[in-house]
Amino acid sequence: MTHILHRAANAAMPVAVGGRGIELFDRDGRSYIDASGGAAVSCLGHGHPDVLAALHAQLDRMAYAHTGFFTTEVAERLADRLVADAPAGLDHVYLVSGGSEAVEAALKMARQYFVEIGQPQRRHVIARRQSYHGNTLGALATGGNEWRRSQFRPLLIETHHIDACYEYRLRETGESEAEYAARAAGQLEATILELGPDRVIAFVAETVVGATAGAVPPVGDYFKRIREICDRHGVLLILDEVMCGMGRTGTLHACEQDGIAPDLMTIAKGLGGGYQPVGAVLLSGRIFESFSKGSGFFQHGHTYMGHPMAAAAGLAVQEVIRRDGLLANVVAMGEHLRARLEQRFGNHPHVGDIRGRGLFQGVELVADRLTKASFDPKSRLNAAIKREAMARGLMVYPMGGTIDGVRGDHVLLAPPFIIERHQVDDVVERLGEAIDAALAA
Ligand code: PMP
Repeated sequence: MTHILHRAANAAMPVAVGGRGIELFDRDGRSYIDASGGAAVSCLGHGHPDVLAALHAQLDRMAYAHTGFFTTEVAERLADRLVADAPAGLDHVYLVSGGSEAVEAALKMARQYFVEIGQPQRRHVIARRQSYHGNTLGALATGGNEWRRSQFRPLLIETHHIDACYEYRLRETGESEAEYAARAAGQLEATILELGPDRVIAFVAETVVGATAGAVPPVGDYFKRIREICDRHGVLLILDEVMCGMGRTGTLHACEQDGIAPDLMTIAKGLGGGYQPVGAVLLSGRIFESFSKGSGFFQHGHTYMGHPMAAAAGLAVQEVIRRDGLLANVVAMGEHLRARLEQRFGNHPHVGDIRGRGLFQGVELVADRLTKASFDPKSRLNAAIKREAMARGLMVYPMGGTIDGVRGDHVLLAPPFIIERHQVDDVVERLGEAIDAALAA
């Protein structure tokens, strides 16, 4: 009997004992291609020698110093690195231990900013239905995934949700891309006006939707419209790039491809590549100054924030990505992955959509391609795909469920940035077999 509670209370799982490059190994000697990077985490793959060396060196120097007493060179260097490459205006960094912590901190920064500048009546947060922002109560309240939220709803702060920009499901026939972008973003303006423009703190969105809908990028001008609406009403824009950020889409930050910069941005996962738990909020000078000129501090904090080991991991991972020019490989291998997915699934009777950016690609499964009807949730297709993929030595991230009326089954692919062409071919081959076996079951 096992005494640990991971995810499923009853599930027997393989015991992972090692990892090298894009593979993980279990205790029984089986290997698995990590085509999901865990949950879009392992951007450098496993056992990268340069990251291990940096971690050993930091451990020898000092494992921990509390941020109530000290700053550290390694945390300062990571912050410098992140600011040097940040979207325009984001010139301060708050280091935490993961994605949910980053989202919680960003929400509280947005609220405190308005208190500091004399607008304490602002209290509403608007986010999107097809979204995941983490599992702590504030982040869970922000996300729109009812399956995750429902039993905790009485504990969640009130938030307001609009649709994500989800072209395959929500763009109407005959509607141009620009019209759809304006209509989808228009939902934000309508909600702000309904709540009262001087009562809204922030709009929160994943630049590319990750865990809820499987790598859904926005259409062309969607975020430009969103930025304009936020500016018009003095509402802060928080982009959650915990999953889609730090190079995963082919640019360091996904929003670079949308031509906008947020006021606050959350990052995690690929920041430390899984070598240590680390996340961060990047914040604008205007928000930072409201704290420095106001109360003098941000009313928040965690024991392990700015942890030197976590900062060392983040710094080493980011330096390797830059030194080895890995974003170019994300672009090249992302194009190859997309082409191979289209070749394999383009005419598949149960694949409705293939979408994504860079090495962040999603495949949406449907019962009927013409009507886009989804599979019956009781079929538990996502669980079957995961099982069949694992049996073929492949880790992918399948999801399913109804998210406010939009029901779908998706498979998310997010392999390490070091993946090679022949490995991409292998991933698609195994995925094809796994999906067909799951559908036949
Ligand atoms: N935001 C997004 C967009 C995420 O994908 C996730 C994790 N899947 C989180 C926040 C929460 O991150 P964590 O699991 O590290 O708390």
